[in-house]
Amino acid sequence: MSKPAVDLTIVGSIGIDTIETPTEKQEEILGGSVSYACAAASFFTHTGMVGVVGTDFPQEYRDTWIHMNIDLQGLQTVEGKTFRWSGVYEENMDNRRTLSTELNVFETFSPELPEDYREAPYLFLGNIHPALQLHVLEQVRNPRFILIDTMDLWINIDKEDLTKVIGKCHMLTLNESEAQLFTGEHSLSQAAQHLLGLGPEYVLIKKGGNGSMLFTKEDIFLLHAYPLESFKDPTGAGDTFAGGLMGALAASGRTDREAIRQAMVYGSIVASFGVEEFSLERLKQLDRNKIEVRVEEFKAMCKL
Ligand code: AMP
Repeated sequence: MSKPAVDLTIVGSIGIDTIETPTEKQEEILGGSVSYACAAASFFTHTGMVGVVGTDFPQEYRDTWIHMNIDLQGLQTVEGKTFRWSGVYEENMDNRRTLSTELNVFETFSPELPEDYREAPYLFLGNIHPALQLHVLEQVRNPRFILIDTMDLWINIDKEDLTKVIGKCHMLTLNESEAQLFTGEHSLSQAAQHLLGLGPEYVLIKKGGNGSMLFTKEDIFLLHAYPLESFKDPTGAGDTFAGGLMGALAASGRTDREAIRQAMVYGSIVASFGVEEFSLERLKQLDRNKIEVRVEEFKAMCKL
């Protein structure tokens, strides 16, 4: 059998963001779940992007992805304006408020996978409407490993489709508060067991700057976040984490527990770089060697 054109397909949103932190405001910068996730995955494996932009989308942003060697066959360009989102972080950077969301071309987005992507062994379905995630699952040919992400909006408005998607993936990732919202369980262990009961083999609960927890029916793996002295913008950190994880897993060619734990370390370290600057600015300057150095530094911190 011939090798698939990409090892990892990632589907998600592409946004032009305006972000305000207590010290800085950046307007019209490159964002979106698939943009962060593909950038992170690109350090490890050949990755295909599935998303939509409008005819106003800057060539400079497209060039950023091209320089990262991201495959853009699955990128649709549609007449109209690109999705726009703006948000503001409060003083402690823990809470973020959405100021505006303009769906634009994202409103009628229907993810269509190029023939070349359908055989990719690894698939990451970023945070989009669960009905669209189901549409992607109908197109792929038996991937070895499927990760899905979601958000509170879909838990609130389309839990039924979301439950179907969860039943078809190998791993589900969501934030602590989303796991509690979906299940009604306060304890993360109980919430994870509830979600595992819906079908996935792994549930990965993200706790922002406090790290993440990987649950299976048999065990739990705890991963601390890399302790940064300072950071500028946490937007997209979860997408960067998941993209890096899937990129590293695809590069390993494995899907077992040990490989997933190692891949989580890579995802977390790439995300720690990503938040040091706005948008993809830090990831653009990054290389595999710098990632490896920080991974070793992190492992030394975790040694018992
Ligand atoms: P996160 O920090 O993981 O919430 O991801 C932030 C990115 O999600 C931003 O770059 C936005 O462009 C994008 N985004 C914001 N709202 C939505 C939405 N409703 N659907 C899809 N993507 C969104």
